Amino acid sequence: MRLDGQVAVVTGGSRGIGREVAKKLSAEGAKVVIAYAGNDEAAKKTAEECRDAVCVKADVSDEAAVEKLFEEAMKINGRIDILVNCAGITKDNLVLRMSSEDFDRVMKVNLYGSFYCSRCASKIMLKQRYGRIISVSSIVGLRGNAGQANYAASKAGVIGMTKSMAKELAKRNITVNAIAPGMIETDMTAVLPENIKDEMLKTIPMGRPGKAEEVAEAILFFASKESSYVTGQVLAVDGGMAV
Ligand code: NAP
Repeated sequence: MRLDGQVAVVTGGSRGIGREVAKKLSAEGAKVVIAYAGNDEAAKKTAEECRDAVCVKADVSDEAAVEKLFEEAMKINGRIDILVNCAGITKDNLVLRMSSEDFDRVMKVNLYGSFYCSRCASKIMLKQRYGRIISVSSIVGLRGNAGQANYAASKAGVIGMTKSMAKELAKRNITVNAIAPGMIETDMTAVLPENIKDEMLKTIPMGRPGKAEEVAEAILFFASKESSYVTGQVLAVDGGMAV
């Protein structure tokens, strides 16, 4: 699935799933703009592992920063064919103990961030009459999870937004899809207590956590020309967890 001559913006590209996505798209020939929140060293490392990539620091929850990110990406490459909304955070707690600030922050980064980026990208893609928008949701957005009401709400929101945008943009040759990963080995899951990880593992038919590379493979399909007749879909990459 070659992407020669195409340009991709990958938010959350400095670490975890986003890093593997940036590497995968780059290996297929795309020029990649790696957007990240603040970890300069990690972003630089991802860029070094790509063939042709630049790093741009941009907090996706900041509307003005996102607009600047896309202006910069256009200045560097002149077009944007692929957007991967991968930036995300968790701030877990039971609803009774969850602060409004923690609810707000997770919604701002995960849902509003995807909205701001998708809006900027789709403006550019509409003019090009071509585009691929892929957002990283979660199995938690489909099924809910105790202790993650804010995260689940943000990820369910991403799915609703994906389906709506797919309908809005279909006639202009822009596809919009989402990935719902299960439990993937990254910094995000490394901080979970061992007993919680063990409980989660028991619910995965494959009996193991997924690798960021395995999520990147599915994202590559949605990012490619080969997925031309697929839009508004949510693909679980979860070892069978949600079956
Ligand atoms: P991760 O290893 O913690 O990496 C998070 C990435 O998001 C980093 O690149 C980080 O940048 C970036 N980021 C965080 N806040 C940001 C902000 N405000 N603006 C811009 N970038 C920001 O996470 P991950 O596990 O790879 O998760 C990637 C995506 O997959 C997230 O949307 C997550 O919800 C989703 N997901 C993960 C799992 C899992 O099991 N890991 C499962 C389902 C869904 P810095 O490096 O600069 O901090």
